[in-house]
Amino acid sequence: MSAHAADVIVVGAGIIGSMTAYYLSHQNKVLIIEKATPCSGASGACNSGLSYLGKEGVQLERAVQSLLIYKNLPDELQAGLDLNQERRMLLLAENEDELKVLADRVDACRSSGMPGELLSRKKVEKEFPKLAGSFLGGALAAGGLHGYVNPFKVVAACLRKIQEAGGKLLRHEKVKSILLEKGQVAGVQTGKRVVRAPVVVICSGHEADNLLDPLNPVGLKPVQGTILITERTPLDPGAKIFSAAFLQAPENFAISLAVEKTSTNNILIGTSREMVSKQGPARATILELAHKAHTILPDLKKINVLRVITGIRAVRSGGPFIGPVPGYTGLYASLGHGGEGITIAPQAGRELAKIIGSVI
Ligand SMILES: Cc1cc2nc3c(=O)[nH]c(=O)nc-3n(C[C@H](O)[C@H](O)[C@H](O)COP(=O)(O)OP(=O)(O)OC[C@H]3O[C@@H](n4cnc5c(N)ncnc54)[C@H](O)[C@@H]3O)c2cc1C
Repeated sequence: MSAHAADVIVVGAGIIGSMTAYYLSHQNKVLIIEKATPCSGASGACNSGLSYLGKEGVQLERAVQSLLIYKNLPDELQAGLDLNQERRMLLLAENEDELKVLADRVDACRSSGMPGELLSRKKVEKEFPKLAGSFLGGALAAGGLHGYVNPFKVVAACLRKIQEAGGKLLRHEKVKSILLEKGQVAGVQTGKRVVRAPVVVICSGHEADNLLDPLNPVGLKPVQGTILITERTPLDPGAKIFSAAFLQAPENFAISLAVEKTSTNNILIGTSREMVSKQGPARATILELAHKAHTILPDLKKINVLRVITGIRAVRSGGPFIGPVPGYTGLYASLGHGGEGITIAPQAGRELAKIIGSVI
């Protein structure tokens, strides 16, 4: 590839890199470099759920902004994204501590002008008669923003738009290092060539610290998650149902309830936080996830699980890093999106493109 191949290089074609590159491509010639295929990282191995209930602070604000962007995204990208934002969201509490956490998160929603209400067990049972198990109550948010999207379709649609705007994608090409000239970014070295550009944006998920180190690692921890995918079924849980325990669980270990239906009528059962294992999902995790789901929604016992997948989240204490990497002019990153990257991607992309746009 020739010198100054692009105005901006984006490393990684997951949902974060693709959305960021899409917004950057409105005003810049963008080159995305992906070491495998688009959406082959966490973005292609996750629940793909869209939600704001349960979040707080800046992540709640980002989620709400993102979910509003999602509403118009199929029109904007001129693509069907299997988007459904009409799901309700229910968080279930099994003890008083969890109920208190839910009360705080409902307050946070309301302070941001978003609907959310706390329900007693009786009210949950009335609203969701098929639920069982030992929960004390829950928090419920109406449909309108919560739901599901197909990340493969979002990534493909962004890449198509980027290419229409004159940008390019290099796939199966790993970025090995970032080129610097007197503290200024000059491009990247891939396994095959040098590619020059004055701005480089790192969106390479959980492996990014390898690339940033020794420049400036942002402190990412890889955390594996397991999901069971059922056959297609008319059974409808009535909402995205999550356990409040997950909100408080340690960053790197939890097996918790999450049940939601996709736009293709499969049910996704999760979710876990575990150490990354080359062997894939642990049998004990699979059994525990199934047990939790069967306890809360006994009708699921009649439905077959077709596949089990694992994905690796990039978790960062204190939330995601979105912005310039200190000390290196022209180097930016959007990393550490943990379990929220599908929800946050449009707003994170727009946010970083705005920061970079005001510089170049
Ligand atoms: C089990 C599980 C469930 C989840 N559920 C949800 C959910 O319901 N809702 C939600 O909002 N979020 C969810 N998430 C989180 C979400 O999947 C992630 O936050 C999001 O996908 C991160 O996107 P990303 O683009 O940063 O990373 P990735 O999708 O991992 O993309 C990074 C890309 O960079 C490429 N790459 C890496 N190194 C290099 C290199 N050196 N050179 C070139 N390319 C490179 C990789 O191949 C990859 O394609 C879940 C995650 C998991 C694991």
